[in-house]
Amino acid sequence: MFPRTGRAGFLPLGEMPRLVGELMRLGYECLGPTVENGAIAMRGLATADALPRGLKTEQEKGTYRVTRDPANRYFAWANGPQGIRPHAFASRESLWRVARDTGGALSFEPVTVDAPKQALIGVRACDLAALAIQDTHFLRGGRVDAHYAARRAALFLVAVQCAEPAATCFCASTGDGPTPVTGYDLALAELAEGFVVEAGSEKGQAVFDGLNLPPASDAQLASVRTQGEAAAAAQTRSLPAAALHGALMSRLDHPRWDDVAARCLACTNCTLVCPTCFCHAEVDEVAVDGDTTEHARVWDSCFGEAHGHLHGFNVRPDVRTRYRQWLTHKLDTWHDQFGRSGCVGCGRCIAWCPAGIDLTEEFAALTAGEVAA
Ligand code: SF4
Ligand code: SF4
Repeated sequence: MFPRTGRAGFLPLGEMPRLVGELMRLGYECLGPTVENGAIAMRGLATADALPRGLKTEQEKGTYRVTRDPANRYFAWANGPQGIRPHAFASRESLWRVARDTGGALSFEPVTVDAPKQALIGVRACDLAALAIQDTHFLRGGRVDAHYAARRAALFLVAVQCAEPAATCFCASTGDGPTPVTGYDLALAELAEGFVVEAGSEKGQAVFDGLNLPPASDAQLASVRTQGEAAAAAQTRSLPAAALHGALMSRLDHPRWDDVAARCLACTNCTLVCPTCFCHAEVDEVAVDGDTTEHARVWDSCFGEAHGHLHGFNVRPDVRTRYRQWLTHKLDTWHDQFGRSGCVGCGRCIAWCPAGIDLTEEFAALTAGEVAA
């Protein structure tokens, strides 16, 4: 559990701009929490002292609100609608172009990615776990996705321990949070007087060394552990982590699928906010003059009608089969692909579902308590 190296340092509260400034000096565009359209998004910080304080969120089924933290902390907010996913797997990107010359000959050009160096400040443990899944999908041996790989390599991840999970969070039950344990370059835990800081990678160590921090005291390290345990204990939702494999594929004809289909709007929100989803569509966009075509990859969703089209028929013709595909893949058959569930307990699909559908409730109803943690 973080801190795990025995080499944690302490950054006093007023010195946060030193950390941001060091990342800026190394050429990183620093992204931190910014309120945009009523939600927290990771956006560029103009200056080293621009990281906002006092943001908090209230989240429940179908509800997300940005509020103020009376303690004016930097990281009291739980999460925004997006995690790390858009910074590594872009929601829309060109893969290749075709041009036709005056003689009618076609030339194909690959599109390469010039990925910006980005430091994400405030990444959560659940999102690191989700990124590890996306890495497995996009970077597995022999089939490395060059676009994803370029963006991923340019990221610097500053993780933070969640001190106050949202009511929708259940990362403790999936084993993915609330304290970051791996996958970060730097990890922070915010205490009243400052941050316990630990490096988790070579590039993180270089930044850590540049800050020249005093070691964290035993009392500060104990406070981090207590804070993490309290945050885990505060979570009220849960999903059994280990026993999901086979739990839903053996219940494909359960009447609850009809029940949830009557509520689900097939709006795709749950898949667009989920940090582990990787489905996409490929589209060709032809220029008006007909001389060039752009072949792009765009995020797609198993809730979309077109996603189930095969030649001549649709394998998921209704909302019942689409919701069932989402939940059975995410919680059950994902184990066959990745050796774990596809849910890291971030709770986003619960907060951002306009129909207030909660996958932990659906799972419990489908399994009627027969699947235990
Ligand atoms: S479960 Fe909710 S968020 Fe997902 S498609 Fe249905 S209505 Fe939309
Ligand atoms: S299924 Fe829902 S709770 Fe689980 S990782 Fe995806 S968005 Fe988060």
